[in-house]
Amino acid sequence: MTGSTQESSSLSSRLDTSVAHSARRYDYWLGGKDNFAADRESGDAIAAAFPTIRLAVRENRAFLRRAVAVLAEEAGIRQFLDIGTGLPTANNTHQVAQAIAPQSRIVYVDNDPLVLVHARALLTSAAEGATAYIDADLREPAKILNDPELHRTLDFSQPVALMLVAVMHFILDEDDPYGIVRRLVEALPRGSYLVVAQATYDPLPPDTVAALEAANARGNPKSRPRSRAEFARFFEGLDILPPGIVSVAEWRADNESQPRPSFVDISGYAAVAQIP
Ligand code: SAH
Repeated sequence: MTGSTQESSSLSSRLDTSVAHSARRYDYWLGGKDNFAADRESGDAIAAAFPTIRLAVRENRAFLRRAVAVLAEEAGIRQFLDIGTGLPTANNTHQVAQAIAPQSRIVYVDNDPLVLVHARALLTSAAEGATAYIDADLREPAKILNDPELHRTLDFSQPVALMLVAVMHFILDEDDPYGIVRRLVEALPRGSYLVVAQATYDPLPPDTVAALEAANARGNPKSRPRSRAEFARFFEGLDILPPGIVSVAEWRADNESQPRPSFVDISGYAAVAQIP
């Protein structure tokens, strides 16, 4: 479905439960209720090839929480643009940010019709702050950047944290992932931040990679895991914060339960960078 068809079609025609969607499959792995048979089948196929997927997804959520907390607490960030929001769950970006600074302002963006249905749950802002939801596709960054709701909610003269957590692996090479990130980053003021986490095959043995590739070739949504060097390209020209590009489970995780899950069980990179 193209962006323009999506826009003109009704919600019910967009809500195709016969095909797995990334938001619903992710919800299934997290133990949520907002998923359908196709999402569970796709989720189980991946779990058969990569049995620690549920741990990896929980750790991804924990990374998102830590990244928002560090940016709110240590960097004083009060504005978040969270693209690829996911279905509401525990510790959504606005909850983490507003627990630290109630005046925080958050814009959520997702292209999944079921996330749109649940958007109200994402919009329960603290009275001092604000939340908004934009129904848009990351592959159309200009549309996101020109949305009046974005500019009503965020002040682009002040720093913004752009969150692309567990969404870039759904942007295939033909969709120009680096161009998309560059256009979004260029729209943000100096001192803003970029937060990215995405899947990789780097630590996996060849038989696991082959099994995941087979599951990926059979089903939807297609994903594009990236190597460390490919992941690093998202941050070209930016100042990556310590500890650099690391396993999702290792990023600023000193206060998490130890020992941390191994890289092979998580198979995802994370990093946070400042826009100079
Ligand atoms: N960021 C959350 C959720 C990740 S699940 C977290 O890390 O916990 C991936 C989300 O990205 C889903 O909600 C899915 O609907 C959304 N998504 C996938 N492709 C997208 C696209 N092209 N444009 C916008 N959102 C997309």
